[in-house]
Amino acid sequence: MMAANVSLAAPPPFDAERVRGDFPILDTMVNGRPLVYLDSAASAQRPLAVLRAVEDYETHSHANVHRGVHALSQAATAAYEGARERVRRFINARSAREIIFVRGTTEAINLIAQAWGRPRLRAGDQILISALEHHANIVPWQMLCEQTGCTLKVAPINRRGELQLEEFLKLLGPHTRLVAVAHVSNALGTVLPLKPLIEAAHAHGALVLIDGAQAVPHARLDVRALGADFYAFSGHKLYGPTGIGVLYGREELLTAMPPWQGGGDMILTVSFEKTTYNELPWKFEAGTPNMSGAVGLAAAMDYLEGLGVEAIAAHEQRLLQLATAELARLPDIEIIGTAAHKASVLSFTMKGVHPHDLGTILDAEGVAVRTGHHCAMPVMTFFGLPATARASFGCYNTERDVASLVQALGKAREVLA
Ligand code: PMP
Repeated sequence: MMAANVSLAAPPPFDAERVRGDFPILDTMVNGRPLVYLDSAASAQRPLAVLRAVEDYETHSHANVHRGVHALSQAATAAYEGARERVRRFINARSAREIIFVRGTTEAINLIAQAWGRPRLRAGDQILISALEHHANIVPWQMLCEQTGCTLKVAPINRRGELQLEEFLKLLGPHTRLVAVAHVSNALGTVLPLKPLIEAAHAHGALVLIDGAQAVPHARLDVRALGADFYAFSGHKLYGPTGIGVLYGREELLTAMPPWQGGGDMILTVSFEKTTYNELPWKFEAGTPNMSGAVGLAAAMDYLEGLGVEAIAAHEQRLLQLATAELARLPDIEIIGTAAHKASVLSFTMKGVHPHDLGTILDAEGVAVRTGHHCAMPVMTFFGLPATARASFGCYNTERDVASLVQALGKAREVLA
């Protein structure tokens, strides 16, 4: 029976002010003003828990992994493989063999292009992506097309920046071998309708790779429930270190793929006559891996689960709605990307002002936004723009940050317009 003093009231509201205290870098002054960090979509800041986990590993546990019987090598191996298990739990994969550590989303997608695509695809085969992809989910496929003769198809988006699902479905066919799409667009914030898209792709016998770089920090990921075959993300967008990321792949698919890089750790035996490859996941991890990065990523996952992934997502949605409403009231601001379902990203332009100039003025006010094509040049071309300014929100942003952005936009208007 429930104790009488247990409250059934809603959980306390997310306390972003308290969260800020976990991120020492947020105390930085920029141009004499307190930093307002609105660039987490490019790279999120790291909490003390991550910084300390990395320091602790480097101070007490570092040696090379897997190959040593000595105590430190075993400690390093335990830390690295423990991090893999942590990732498995975070994304609910069936087995740690399905978790490949890579440098980031870019490397994960290149791995699939080269280890899955290159030996299999040929002229007549098709890869289907969407028009809102990051260059990391375009260029590896173009390279694969050059290498194998396969063809790249692109499903269009509408003026709100949403995938046109009907058109996507029309482009799916018997020749589609792989569908590779973002979970969340980094340039527009659009959340893609993955469920119907994955079901349709599978019904046509195609595999599905999801670029989750912008999704994993903002929503609970359950790869088994989602049903994608491959899922890629980067540690540095998830409040973890740079140079570490994850490729999730279904075990039977990874097992059937040849390695893509050769070297130490990915082999069982080597002779000049015949080399045999290691088991999953090490088959895809040639060379000394990024142990401290993996440890930091695991610490980031602990930290996020401590705050509550769902609570963070709800907080960011509130900020996104607030910022969207505030910017929509400004007559000279145009919001680029107005999809019904968005996550944490607000792209915009100011009439008559180049986004780079806007970014420079905002920086003078201490407000860090990203300006440019956001590695999504085809999206900019679609909207007929050279660039946008992009504010993005993380667990440490507050309503005050939104107010600072609005105020700095006012300043930019005075100076530039
Ligand atoms: N895909 C998307 C949607 C992204 O936002 C990014 C990073 N901007 C990437 C891929 C590439 O990630 P990384 O540079 O960490 O490999």
